[in-house]
Amino acid sequence: MSARAANALPGFDAESVRRDFPILDQQINGHPLVYLDNAATTQKPECVIEAISNYYRRDNANVHRGVHTLSDRATHAFEQARQAVADFLGSPRVEQVIWTSGTTAAINLVAHSWGRSTLRPGDRVLVSWLEHHSNIVPWQLVAAATGAEVIPIPVTDAGEIDLRSLADLLDGRVKMVAVNHVSNALGTVNPVLEIVSMAKAVGALVLVDGAQSVAHWPVDVPALGCDFFVMSGHKLFGPTGVGVLWGREALLEAMPPFMGGGEMIERVAFPTTTFNSLPFKFEAGTPNIAGAIGLAAAIDYLGTIDREAAMAHEAALLARTLELAAEVEGLRRVGTPAHAAGIFSFLLEGTHPSDVGMLLDQQGIAVRTGHHCAQPLMERLGIPGTVRASYSIYNTQEDVSRLFEGIHKAKRLFA
Ligand code: PLP
Repeated sequence: MSARAANALPGFDAESVRRDFPILDQQINGHPLVYLDNAATTQKPECVIEAISNYYRRDNANVHRGVHTLSDRATHAFEQARQAVADFLGSPRVEQVIWTSGTTAAINLVAHSWGRSTLRPGDRVLVSWLEHHSNIVPWQLVAAATGAEVIPIPVTDAGEIDLRSLADLLDGRVKMVAVNHVSNALGTVNPVLEIVSMAKAVGALVLVDGAQSVAHWPVDVPALGCDFFVMSGHKLFGPTGVGVLWGREALLEAMPPFMGGGEMIERVAFPTTTFNSLPFKFEAGTPNIAGAIGLAAAIDYLGTIDREAAMAHEAALLARTLELAAEVEGLRRVGTPAHAAGIFSFLLEGTHPSDVGMLLDQQGIAVRTGHHCAQPLMERLGIPGTVRASYSIYNTQEDVSRLFEGIHKAKRLFA
């Protein structure tokens, strides 16, 4: 157990966690920053910033194949980072961890490699109405190329996947079910275990988009039973431009390369080229070495956090938010899922989300407004967008109070 976890008091010292994130200690528009845009990207602790900076100061070199010391060091750190991700996700083998530039790239990799080589006319890919565009559009591109169909899984008015409708859709034509673990727009925690077992019953594969889950609780990916799991470093206190595809080994072995280039080959010749083994087969070109090292530092950092306590802390922030929201006349929470993770999406009667967002920014409060890259969901709910406050481990009850002071001010000015 880490020093901080061992020393954790009952409850959770968000103030102490907050001090690890230098960006949070600043004034925005004359007010102390309240950062509530964590679903878009999380802030970075000092140790992540240092790991990236130290890498560039001391170890920068290209990885693999180098004979010199710097290349050795960079390769070692890069592959250690892969091991850190494998351990973090509970992967049986490190070769199942493929570096990508993020969740979007990881889904595209699966769609274009597995999808193009497997899907046939009449096959179906199910995605829910809750999905981020990055778990819709890659499938549409591949469907257009293969003759397969992308079918949306209905969601209820509460913003939950309708499991009965999913059951009706599942038949032998379905080859892939691709769902998020947590909806970035509403915070819905999807019943992935149940979805996996339903999909498996008809022989379909399951891809879980974990972009929003991994920062909130420890995810044991093999225990989910899915075939692919994808995530982004920047939503997990790591840098932008790095992410991960985790896959079942047999599937990854069978899948053709997605991008060609250096590193992913065994031998290049005319007329045929042979490919490298896993994971390198899918890693053409110079990878984001500093990004991988930064992500490993973020994972190390999370190891110093009592994650059970952090979850309870985030749940308490959301619970207080819902209490305060109930007192604001004209405020409507969008999506009322029974199980939500750290996200509060809402509308304020008589106001436009972007006006509310701008007014909050004037008070130093950063939220996101709009469709949250989930236009089909917004269409399903009959709204153009929402105001979204999303919480992380460093947010405090004071942040929640500040948000509601801002909302009351917006109501006075606009509503
Ligand atoms: N999936 C979900 C659920 C997300 O929230 C996001 C980003 O907001 C993505 C996918 C895309 O992630 P990235 O832009 O890091 O590729």
